[in-house]
Amino acid sequence: MNSIFDPTAEALAGWLQQRGQPAYRLEQIRQGLYTRRAGSWDEVTSLPKGLRAELAESFGFWTTRIAAHRRAADGTQKLLLELADQQHIECVLLPGRARWSICLSTQVGCAMGCVFCASGLRGVARNLTAGEIVEQMARLQRLLPAPDRFSHIVVMGMGEPLANLDQLLPALDFARRNDTFGIGTRRITISTVGIPAAMRRLARHTHHYHLAVSLHAASDALRNQLVPVNARIGLEEILAVADEYFELSGRRLTYEYVLLAGLNDQPPHARELVRLLRGRPALLNVIPFNPVPGLPYQTPDSAAIRQFRDLLEQGGVNVQFRQRKGDTIDAACGQLRRADNSV
Ligand code: SAH
Repeated sequence: MNSIFDPTAEALAGWLQQRGQPAYRLEQIRQGLYTRRAGSWDEVTSLPKGLRAELAESFGFWTTRIAAHRRAADGTQKLLLELADQQHIECVLLPGRARWSICLSTQVGCAMGCVFCASGLRGVARNLTAGEIVEQMARLQRLLPAPDRFSHIVVMGMGEPLANLDQLLPALDFARRNDTFGIGTRRITISTVGIPAAMRRLARHTHHYHLAVSLHAASDALRNQLVPVNARIGLEEILAVADEYFELSGRRLTYEYVLLAGLNDQPPHARELVRLLRGRPALLNVIPFNPVPGLPYQTPDSAAIRQFRDLLEQGGVNVQFRQRKGDTIDAACGQLRRADNSV
């Protein structure tokens, strides 16, 4: 059965037409789903009962089930969603100053194998469908009391978004529409480990989403250790494509750098990073490691973090330290995982 949240099943307009329904029905359905945030066909009360019953036969409503819902004292909320095939994914609602962001997953698990991240511990099971990506948006929107709504999307949850662009792009393009979530291109960030071919494809896409590249090391020797897929790619090509993306889109890139005590947080690492990024129109986003049970890595102490920051600032790098959110409910960066017992 089609899911009503699946933007690639452009069947809805045709379905309505076949039944001689007026064009405004589509508008009523979208309003019911995305403005009124209905939780079932019964709640789309603007439609005649008979039509609702017919829709229910052709279009499934939720294909996911909320298996767990956790709230942190800092306002972060995390949903563990069970998919139709009993796989599990997580997505997060993040509060900010006068804004709400949502963090979405694109795969069940992840194949990239970054050594410090929980999402890849058990490899990847499959790509999410565009419908499953849109469903995360709808599920998270329903956590907010109307008229509050999320204003930003970060594609930084489980999975490598650039390994699933065929499903991600239709989902994001759908989220931009005014009759769905109305999220402007500039408020959508896609985070990637750095896959050059897919980055080139994003550069050619009509809408230039904000791109964040997870760097974590300024030399190939170290990056190969932390981000194993780097061995097949290399920093030089990633940075060259990132520069191309900037030239084509005019949008400054973000580089992410997880700070791991003793591994990539020492003064020589900071200096190497300065050499790599100086002169590039980039923002460096440093994320002190969020602990993952079972992994041997440590968060640097505040003196090491300060020293790292000072060296970058002195070197003229535009740097920002990310505030940790949701770590008490394992909803922070790198803490989302595939295991069923992650609740
Ligand atoms: N695969 C994509 C998106 C998911 S990860 C990517 O690699 O960018 C989103 C961000 O969280 C990445 O920058 C990632 O490196 C970071 N991250 C992963 N594990 C982390 C951890 N344990 N602590 C802090 N950040 C982490």
